[in-house]
Amino acid sequence: MKVYKFGGASVKDANGIRNLAKIVSGEKDKLVIVVSAFGKTTNALERVLKAWLGGDKSYRDHLDDIYSYHASVAGELFPSGNSAKGKIDNSFADLRAYLLSSEKSAYDYEYDQVVSHGEIWSTIIVSEFLRKSGLDVKWVDIRKCLLTDDRHRDANILWEESSGLVRSAFDFRKHSVYLTQGFIGGTVPGRSTTLGREGSDYTAAILANMLDAESVTVWKDVPGLLNADPKWLPDAIKLEEISYKEAVEITFSGAKVIHPKTIKPLHNKNIPLHVKSFIDPDQTGTIIKADATLKTIMPVFIRKEKQILISILPNDFSFVMGDNLSRIFQIFITHGIKVNLVEASAVSIDVCVDDERPKVESLLADLENEYSAFYNDNVELLSVRHYTPEAIDRITTGREMLLEQRTRSTVRFVVRVGIASSLRSSQ
Ligand code: ASP
Ligand code: MG
Repeated sequence: MKVYKFGGASVKDANGIRNLAKIVSGEKDKLVIVVSAFGKTTNALERVLKAWLGGDKSYRDHLDDIYSYHASVAGELFPSGNSAKGKIDNSFADLRAYLLSSEKSAYDYEYDQVVSHGEIWSTIIVSEFLRKSGLDVKWVDIRKCLLTDDRHRDANILWEESSGLVRSAFDFRKHSVYLTQGFIGGTVPGRSTTLGREGSDYTAAILANMLDAESVTVWKDVPGLLNADPKWLPDAIKLEEISYKEAVEITFSGAKVIHPKTIKPLHNKNIPLHVKSFIDPDQTGTIIKADATLKTIMPVFIRKEKQILISILPNDFSFVMGDNLSRIFQIFITHGIKVNLVEASAVSIDVCVDDERPKVESLLADLENEYSAFYNDNVELLSVRHYTPEAIDRITTGREMLLEQRTRSTVRFVVRVGIASSLRSSQ
């Protein structure tokens, strides 16, 4: 049994879905297909949510645009009508009714109730199209079997509770092809949750783990994992084969092709991950597996944009490395802020995090009693794995560096972007 995952870019229009149908029809093995929302639907739903929460009636226009997009894809795929249309209409009607009547709860909770619809709509249309193409595919509502806690927008999987449910939902007794949603899950009381942006890869890995899949293939609009983002360094080269360790390091550092959380569930069951091009499905792509070696060790360049560098100093001048360290990180965890880099000295610690403004602001406010905190925004985090002097020069020449950190295998730089921003105190 294999798991195939198709992201938003591969299902952004009718041709993408026809291509998906062609790829899955070529697979003789039993299959679980995981699909994301169409194109940029998740971003569009985030706009609906923002307007609605802000009391701005324009949310209805945003929603109408999303509806037209889905209706036009369905119209192209089913020129003489199909039950997908009715199902989509009902689901949009439910969401509209929810937005009209619901009390507005906390942002993260409402986010999940609204934004999770994108994956429901995409999978309804794709599964109807696969059926029309002659594939006996079973649509599964993943919210009923992939159970999570209620940490909305970044929900944790309840592994024990979910695995039995997942195994019976995908039991391959009556069907050999299943199709389901990436990115979303459900709480025990039946509320929708999401697993974090771009989380569909993670869903594919979780299902593969629970179902003991032979492999996972993530179909992308790039030929595989490259040693840099080609939009940044155009001469980027494809990595043929890399280990789980290598993959988790480069995705955690900011390589965007696959979600960093994807690797652990696969590593734990020794399931290989293929990253392949849906434009050119016969090409080999990249294989991530246990015994892989980087054939020639070449530098891998990673850029993580939109970062903030925070410096934290205990007010009483105590050493940062003792009790302070765990207290500071507990505050980061409480605020749901993921740390991308840490560098500590005697009485100060530098931490680089994603620039998620409201969260970072409340973190700084919380630190204020015991610590002085300063930050630089407008910075990015550059990493080079398997660095050489030339590789470092290539990305740092002419850049203003705020921090440099070297280990045996990786060097990281926090550098300014564009116009220098001044150092700010959180107070
Ligand atoms: N649709 C979600 C997103 O855009 C999940 C995913 O694409 O993996 O973040
Ligand atoms: Mg997406």
